[in-house]
Amino acid sequence: MAAAKRAGARGRHAKGAMPSYGSRTDIGLVRDHNEDSLAVNPPLYAVADGMGGHAAGEVASEIAIQTLVANAPETPDGDDLARAVVAANHAVIRAAIEGIGRKGMGTTMTAAMLVGKRLVVAQVGDSRAYLMHEGSLQRITRDHSLMADLIESGQITAEEARVHPQRSVITRALGSDPSTLPDIYEMNVAAGDRLLLCSDGLSGMVDDSLLESTLERVKDPQRCAAALVNEAISAGGHDNVTAIVVDVPTNAEAVIKKQTRKGRLAAILAAIAFVLVLVGVGAGSMAYLDHTAFLTEKDGNVAVYRGMPGEIAGLTFSHFDHDTGLAADDLEGLPANVRERLAEGIKVDSVADADALVETWKEQIEQYKKSTAPASKKLTDDADAQDAASSDAAKAAESADGENSDTEEGDAA
Ligand code: MN
Repeated sequence: MAAAKRAGARGRHAKGAMPSYGSRTDIGLVRDHNEDSLAVNPPLYAVADGMGGHAAGEVASEIAIQTLVANAPETPDGDDLARAVVAANHAVIRAAIEGIGRKGMGTTMTAAMLVGKRLVVAQVGDSRAYLMHEGSLQRITRDHSLMADLIESGQITAEEARVHPQRSVITRALGSDPSTLPDIYEMNVAAGDRLLLCSDGLSGMVDDSLLESTLERVKDPQRCAAALVNEAISAGGHDNVTAIVVDVPTNAEAVIKKQTRKGRLAAILAAIAFVLVLVGVGAGSMAYLDHTAFLTEKDGNVAVYRGMPGEIAGLTFSHFDHDTGLAADDLEGLPANVRERLAEGIKVDSVADADALVETWKEQIEQYKKSTAPASKKLTDDADAQDAASSDAAKAAESADGENSDTEEGDAA
């Protein structure tokens, strides 16, 4: 398994201003794989709960954790942490496309960064972050799950959700939609607070009051993580169980948040993530899917791709959708820089928008050809597509060349 997971198993108990922490993951009593993965790389801590069957969930959660660790910022910055989670999402999607793991595999991701009193949490799925503050347990994250939606709309209670047959249905995960973004929570915590990150194998088996009393009772963070996992197993261990416990040092200094924006993308991501938090709170996780697309040149034609053009951190996040049939060197009549922009990828909101744009181009090209064709040729009433237009244009050119010839084929007398 990954270094991140081994580091988690070792744990560490630093003195002074460094937080002390502990972690444990366990397969549980029912499953035959442990599809949970975790990272304990201070100041970064993360839990990912994979899904996909036949061990693919383990692959998905491991790829997500490794990509997160590789891309995580050094300080608790919401924008930058969101970007690392986005990179993790793209890495899982790309792995499935490349045949690593399985198509349809996915994972949750609950990632936290803690420096001094500054805590930032990024959330996708139904793993959770909790904070113990002055002896009482507060949940930081909102689940992206069917149960959360049903509880919030008053259709079932939290107790009913615990035994509901669809309790594991999640409404947002890494590995399916390239435009998925995490919810971001940023806050200042207090010296002596305790952070818990866990998979649903803990929160689904052990109720909040027992989590709270255990977090209060077991002072050593490593022993506490082990005790929490043991409680989930005692309760039946129906799922893989993972817990990370991090203590905010009692002498923690408030760390002034570094406000340097690392560029426009980070700012845009932060804005979108913020809006999503609002939307998520207000309207659940419905209507989240959004498929962006772009136009670019492929095999000499204008082609539609899904995803985003270019690459981020060496990864590409797109796949070919279809060829539009429009030749890339037949764009006369369009603005001069279109072909240049195609090389970079022209972003649109959806595949339908891409097709609509190409249709507009085809009309403009046809108009251009009509306007430049010799006036003697009957082109203006030609209702056919640009194929007919271009063959007429070719004929027109031919006829212009052979003005003195009377062998023009099919020419109306
Ligand atoms: Mn689980």
